[in-house]
Amino acid sequence: MPDTLVTAAAPPVDLEPQLLALGRELSERRSPLHAATRGAYDRAMALAASDPQLRAALFRLVDVAPACAGSAELAEHLAAYLEELDEPAPPVALGTRAATSPLARRATGRVAATLVRSMAGRFIVGESVAAAAPVLGRLWQRNTAVTVDLLGEATVTPAEGEAYARRCHEALISLTAASKAWPERPLLERDGIGRLPRVNLSVKVTALTPLTRAEAPDRGRLDAARHLRALLRRAKELNAHLHVDMESMASRELILELVLDLLDEPEFADGPSTGLVLQAYLRDSEELLDRILERTAAAQRAVPLTVRLVKGAYWDHETIEAAQNGWTPPVWTDKAESDRCFERLTRRLLDAHPLVRTAIASHNLRSVAHAVAYARHVGLQPRDFELQVLRGLGDDLQDALAAAGLRGRTYCPVGDMVAGMAYLVRRLLENTSNTSFLASRASGSDLEELLRRP
Ligand SMILES: Cc1cc2nc3c(=O)[nH]c(=O)nc-3n(C[C@H](O)[C@H](O)[C@H](O)COP(=O)(O)OP(=O)(O)OC[C@H]3O[C@@H](n4cnc5c(N)ncnc54)[C@H](O)[C@@H]3O)c2cc1C
Repeated sequence: MPDTLVTAAAPPVDLEPQLLALGRELSERRSPLHAATRGAYDRAMALAASDPQLRAALFRLVDVAPACAGSAELAEHLAAYLEELDEPAPPVALGTRAATSPLARRATGRVAATLVRSMAGRFIVGESVAAAAPVLGRLWQRNTAVTVDLLGEATVTPAEGEAYARRCHEALISLTAASKAWPERPLLERDGIGRLPRVNLSVKVTALTPLTRAEAPDRGRLDAARHLRALLRRAKELNAHLHVDMESMASRELILELVLDLLDEPEFADGPSTGLVLQAYLRDSEELLDRILERTAAAQRAVPLTVRLVKGAYWDHETIEAAQNGWTPPVWTDKAESDRCFERLTRRLLDAHPLVRTAIASHNLRSVAHAVAYARHVGLQPRDFELQVLRGLGDDLQDALAAAGLRGRTYCPVGDMVAGMAYLVRRLLENTSNTSFLASRASGSDLEELLRRP
């Protein structure tokens, strides 16, 4: 364990030549396998990118999705929002012009639902853990670990929170059973610190309790702690890993303190393997990392905490909310700031090995290549850090990482389309922003340009 609790800022080592070589290598190794499944999604992405009103309609759809009873109702909302567009882009215009009668509108809704469902198929691994299990097994076989996310966000009633918790328990049990048939994959099962669980579940605190945004945060904390404690016990009993996702600023403090406090409880001193998420788009993310490292060092748990480093998925939400309230946004407003912060945090996390296990989660080849180059520079082995991607967005990168002998993990959402709507639209919006790496790549930007220092 390092002598200092908080790692000092890393010296500015110049790794550009190694990084560029790695970025080119990973780019060349991208598998053409997934190109065929990209068509509908790429067209939807291009459409949304070209039309701010369509983007706004999709945002509204995310808000209404949790209240919809089924995909038909969801599709009706989508059709109604599309009708309100002033000058819809051509494919949308065609669909909405046809929808003049209630019958025709329902038909448009059905077309919209089919489109959304086909896009959902790219991101969602299966409607249930049982349906997803063969896909997860195949990924493992191809030397890619997985983390399963049970779709369903921002619970509205306590009964929904109970149901989500129950689904998480069931998922841990059935994934443990399914994973017994997976073949041995040494790179995925052990690092220099010790054993890595085969089963890895990502959970959302706002899905466990409806009380996180209430005026009485203590009630939300107690409710969430009750559920999370039971899940930690279950994960420990099954030797599984439990990862707590990070969400918007409204629940950030609650989630961070909740996880760190629970891990201080004596019954969790020797497990389970647990993780949390650090968002580099937050202006105060470096101070958050100080806190995480200090608390982790003080806790002296037998199993190190895993920190998944991401940029952050709620950028639009945080900037809009700040503007509405006249606040300074909690997030960087220049994309390059988020990218630079991501690189600083990458170095600090890798420097903190073995106090924490690091998982770099990004589809940006520059961010990924930087992490690999720095890990090599500080003498870490490929098994000592992890690179994570989202199913449907990082499929070709996932294969390139496995081919390069790096430890990759794919985040695999499981659930039905209505539950997945918020997730799906967030992915769509994220990748229609003109600053997104994937959007730039899809529009043909030069690789050397994309790999340039932010
Ligand atoms: C395995 C995995 C797990 C994830 N889990 C979580 C999670 O728990 N919580 C969470 O919040 N996110 C999570 N994400 C999503 C992640 O935060 C990013 O939204 C996503 O990965 C896109 O970032 P990128 O590095 O891949 O792409 P890039 O295109 O390099 O970066 C896009 C990101 O840059 C930031 N950005 C965009 N515009 C601006 C701007 N004008 N100014 C400043 N910053 C800007 C945003 O964060 C945006 O998402 C996860 C991602 C992965 C791969």
